[in-house]
Amino acid sequence: MADELIFLGTAGGRLTVAKQLRASGGFWVVLGGTRLHVDPGPGALVHCHARTLRLDPTTLDAIILTHRHLDHAGDVNAMIEAMTEGGTKRRGVVLAPQDAYEGDPVIFRYVRSYAEKTEVLREGGAHQVGAVRVETPLRLKHPVETYGLRLVVPELTVSLIACTGYFPALEEAYKGDVLILNVVFLPRRSDTHLCMEDAQRLIGAIRPKLAILTHFGMTMVRARPWELADQVSQATGVKTLAARDHQRLDLSRALGR
Ligand SMILES: [Zn+2]
Ligand SMILES: [Zn+2]
Repeated sequence: MADELIFLGTAGGRLTVAKQLRASGGFWVVLGGTRLHVDPGPGALVHCHARTLRLDPTTLDAIILTHRHLDHAGDVNAMIEAMTEGGTKRRGVVLAPQDAYEGDPVIFRYVRSYAEKTEVLREGGAHQVGAVRVETPLRLKHPVETYGLRLVVPELTVSLIACTGYFPALEEAYKGDVLILNVVFLPRRSDTHLCMEDAQRLIGAIRPKLAILTHFGMTMVRARPWELADQVSQATGVKTLAARDHQRLDLSRALGR
């Protein structure tokens, strides 16, 4: 099985998601034969079964939420049911911050027992899922409890800087061969989301072999993200792509291995 990234959707922020200017299903990572679904936003289950993807949720090893916001968690319960064949096969791991399970929980209590395990993400934590070590080195700067990810197998690390404002410690914490960044804004509009300038700064400092922009808000969608990615490639010398809905990326090929 090839190491792969599969983008079900590339929308970020409330308006892009509400209008479905891009799909909002998050992405799958396949590493060392282990399959993870990160941030199953609204429509994730539908996009899994789309004719262009035909992903089988019963093959998932884990579902991971970086945080509880709707654009990341809208389909988490539907995906847990799908992963467990409607709750009939107890399997798979669910990983999410504490506040996704508490108060007004985004992960319903009754679906939790369908999964083999539900675990809580914490700053500095690590979880082994199949072949993949899932690390959450730093809590991010976002209105709710949010973690970026490092997904580590011996030959490769895929990092995700999820929704966050820029702060310098990100550069050390999220090193990886492949770096995925959630870039909601083109101009700076908020200190709890990355804008293009922040993304370019992080890519230039971390210097992954491949950087991928995703989770686009309205200003990004309108600005032709693939052209912005080319500009970052030229400015930093790091190969940078803008993710597309239903894009499958063979990582060995993309990294020239
Ligand atoms: Zn978001
Ligand atoms: Zn958010």
